[in-house]
Amino acid sequence: MLFETEKKAETFIKFNSDEIAEETGYKPERSYFCTYCGGWHITKERTKSAKSVETGTKKQSKIIKIINRFLLYVCSKTSFLPHL
Ligand SMILES: [Zn+2]
Repeated sequence: MLFETEKKAETFIKFNSDEIAEETGYKPERSYFCTYCGGWHITKERTKSAKSVETGTKKQSKIIKIINRFLLYVCSKTSFLPHL
């Protein structure tokens, strides 16, 4: 996942970290600058409260929806290809 600015990455963490942690078991921790992309990525940490790895397609599609929703917003202003 690529963010155009640190602020956007931090905003994403702020509003989505809890839900992402609950659904995926990986909690977004902080943002860092990627020289390859020229943008910002988010580090993530495995949480103790993580659910089973086999979260099922329903859970997976939910988290993908959340990410895609935000990427649509971010990518509308950048030509960079996002990567997870
Ligand atoms: Zn990158």
